[in-house]
Amino acid sequence: MLPFFPRRFIPICAAGGGQYDARMEARFCTHCGGPLRLGVPEGDNRERHICDACRVVHYQNPKIVTGCIPAWEDQVLLCRRAIEPRRGLWTVPAGFMENGETTYAGAARETLEEANARVEIQGLYLTVNLPHIDQVYMLFRARLLDLDFSPGEESLEVALFRESDLPWGRLAFATVELVLRRYFEDRRAGRFPVRMADIVRDPDQPRGYRVVSFQDA
Ligand SMILES: [Zn+2]
Repeated sequence: MLPFFPRRFIPICAAGGGQYDARMEARFCTHCGGPLRLGVPEGDNRERHICDACRVVHYQNPKIVTGCIPAWEDQVLLCRRAIEPRRGLWTVPAGFMENGETTYAGAARETLEEANARVEIQGLYLTVNLPHIDQVYMLFRARLLDLDFSPGEESLEVALFRESDLPWGRLAFATVELVLRRYFEDRRAGRFPVRMADIVRDPDQPRGYRVVSFQDA
């Protein structure tokens, strides 16, 4: 078996991206308990985890993180994280999509769980590829249905912010800063095109990453 080397993480995403790496956990077959080895299955061109005992190939693919920007007039609802990574810093409600749900239902669920807030999802706004941690973010625009919100179990605090009083220096993740900057720019322009971007690890940058946008509209 080839050795596994932990990759150096940078805090550029939510949902435990700084802690979890499925590739490091795959040691034993979840079907039969046998040991896994890395190898290229017949007809494939990438290394996979293969169980020689039951011949199951354990494919690993990116995870989807879904979330939203809950808006109330010119303010957005943010949550201060009660959990690691990045405890104490602010984020939009977001988390791993669950099996059996849609992306937008997942965004509304995360908002309910983290902020006890009900939203109407208005549309897809930004997708972000995070290839170094195998995640894709899908972030939606949303409208708060009322001002009855409070911290959920994963939040220390939830609050509405205008652009001018937003805690820009205390945001939890690069994706959060990216989506909020774009959101307020677009709000000023009066339109919300669907946007795409990559956040790519780059040790030569002061913050350890760079944003590659696929639209400058
Ligand atoms: Zn097996």
